[in-house]
Amino acid sequence: MRSPIPDFLDETLNRHRSDRSGENADYIPDLAAADPEKLGICISTLDGVEYTSGDSEFEFSIQSMSKPFIYGLALEQAGLPAVLDMVGVEPSGEKFNELSLDKKSGKPLNPMINAGALAIHSLLGEDGSSLAERTEIARSGLSRFAGRELRVDESTAAGEWEAAYRNIAIANMLRSYDVFLDDPDDVVQGYIAQCSVLVTVKDLAIMAATLAGGGLNPITGEQVLSPRVNRQVLAVMMTCGMYDAAGDWMTEIGIPAKSGVSGGVFGVMPGQVGIATFSPRLDRHGTSVRGAKIFRDLSNRLSLHIMDAPEPARSIIRRDRRFVGNNGEMVRICSLQGLIQWSGSENVIRAMDDPATSTNVFILDLRRVNEINGVARKMLTEALSRLKEDGIRVVLMDPEDMMKCKGPDSALPDVKILDSLKSVKGLKRVRNDRRREMADRSV
Ligand code: GLU
Repeated sequence: MRSPIPDFLDETLNRHRSDRSGENADYIPDLAAADPEKLGICISTLDGVEYTSGDSEFEFSIQSMSKPFIYGLALEQAGLPAVLDMVGVEPSGEKFNELSLDKKSGKPLNPMINAGALAIHSLLGEDGSSLAERTEIARSGLSRFAGRELRVDESTAAGEWEAAYRNIAIANMLRSYDVFLDDPDDVVQGYIAQCSVLVTVKDLAIMAATLAGGGLNPITGEQVLSPRVNRQVLAVMMTCGMYDAAGDWMTEIGIPAKSGVSGGVFGVMPGQVGIATFSPRLDRHGTSVRGAKIFRDLSNRLSLHIMDAPEPARSIIRRDRRFVGNNGEMVRICSLQGLIQWSGSENVIRAMDDPATSTNVFILDLRRVNEINGVARKMLTEALSRLKEDGIRVVLMDPEDMMKCKGPDSALPDVKILDSLKSVKGLKRVRNDRRREMADRSV
């Protein structure tokens, strides 16, 4: 079979190809001269499969899309408290290059606006690292997200440095408030080099998929960011990534994203995919016009809005049946399915706690469960111990060891573990009278 996904991407690009609104960024000569007709997209899955359409191999400078990744690297290097001490996490609602600091703390508001990103760049490496050292840390760090060696485009960097008055002003403001003690020109040049790293939409989609996969690069298998740092990066991206359009973007499109003045946009659907688009003409917020429209399309057509909640917890219980054994014992088999998180475990515990059911043996059947997260495992472990304390015999059907203790505080009570239901064959099914009663009443 030929996958329908590339065709879907071709159609999506074609729907927006004729839109020529917006303008290339003009303050960096290489961006002003970029071919405005270029249009590309890549979606990367969490196991590294890339679906592409259009100019997916075309290289462009990463610009502001470097900010979340470098923020992550700085967090890994310096730790959350030190980074938070220097740069806040509040959305500014301002333009990317606003000369602004938090009025009370004197800190940049967040790491996605230039004031914050310049401060974050100054954290790379040891205290007093040179411009060349920081540039290399940024380049090699971005490469780890992409899963290949990226390079700095010297021509883009030189062009931006020629007209970097605004960023130099911001860096001097930061220096005057002692946000950093480095030479402001060096920090700006390093930051510009960071912004001038060349990527394709394929690189960006892999970088986005790394964030979508909790910091794990789907190609190299490297854990580039720890899950905690990764979450921090995504949360900041979601609230601050689109500058003064952040609210519109999150409500309408709902995919945490970051844009760059080169015309790239990447988006992260946690646990699902990384997406990247490229098209140079920008809207008044500095975001690619066609990129934003394509993201809107994907959000609607693929139901990718982050607030579209996943399957509700009530479908966790696949079947809950009661049987009578030969010796008159009441056996209850509760079969679960899918992904069990906190709310799902609450649902199961509520069913276990049913006062109307007298149970002698409780069998928890996990054969159709795909995953139990740590919190749900803890909750269920505790509930099973309590059932045991109540004198109920607990049996676990867990051929894939989903409930096996993975931490010191979640030791499973001493329960019988079965691989199949063979040993309970021959039990006589008891109709759920209570449920029937309720159904009768509703007729
Ligand atoms: N290098 C650009 C700047 O700082 C990046 C801006 C952007 O992509 O939004 O001016």
